[in-house]
This record gives sequence, C-alpha cells and structure tokens, in this order.
Amino acid sequence: MGGVIKESVSIDLLKRKMDDFAKERDWEKFHSPRNLLLALVGEVGELSEIFQWKGEVPKGLPDWKEEEKEHLGEELSDVLLYLIRLSDICGVDLGQAALRKLHLNALKYPVNGSSTEYENANNNYSTTD
Ligand SMILES: [Mg+2]
Repeated sequence: MGGVIKESVSIDLLKRKMDDFAKERDWEKFHSPRNLLLALVGEVGELSEIFQWKGEVPKGLPDWKEEEKEHLGEELSDVLLYLIRLSDICGVDLGQAALRKLHLNALKYPVNGSSTEYENANNNYSTTD
C-alpha cells in the first residue's frame, strides 16, 4: 500500500502533514474550529455506522473480513486526523493535553481505589436525571 509508514507515527508528524495538506489545497480558509468540529462529529458517525446493528463484537474482530478492517482503519483515521487538526487550529498541544488528562484520571481513579468507586462513577454517567 502506498504511503504506509511502518515506524512509529507521532501526533506532531500527523499535525504537520494535515497542515501541509490544507495549505497545498488552499483549504485553510475552511478549517475554522467549528467546521473542523462538525467534520469530526460526521466522521464519528461514519465510524459508528461500521458497528451499527452488529451487536457486541469480540476484541480483535476475528470474524471481520480484511476489507471491513481496512474500512475501520480509514474511519478511525478520519476521526484522529480531524481531532489533531482541530486541536492544532485551537492552539492546543494534543499530546501534552492527553498526558495531562491521563495524569488527572490517575489521580481521580487510583490503582488501589475500589472497583465500587469505578462502578459508581459509571452509574453516575448513565443516570438520566
Ligand atoms: Mg470517513
């Protein structure tokens, strides 16, 4: 496959490639935060369609055809690329923000915390009132 980079890919590399891609096509004028957010949400919808009506699927997707996995990879990439572009246009260092958020999550959910705490947190998210 053309364009496949087998080494580790950094957020920074993807950010620069997205910036070049937009510049080369004179698409920067379309890349406002709102437009990028809506594009991101649209791609999340396309990603969701892949799983729609399949019910629960096992980890690793062992029963999926190669074309289905390739399609999944494309939609996951669309989501990632728009997320990276949105972060860049908003002046947010996504890698640093994600590391900070992981740290905050670790403080909120300590390793030795009870699983009840986790279950309570999940139950709180699912309440409708
Ligand atoms: Mg797509």
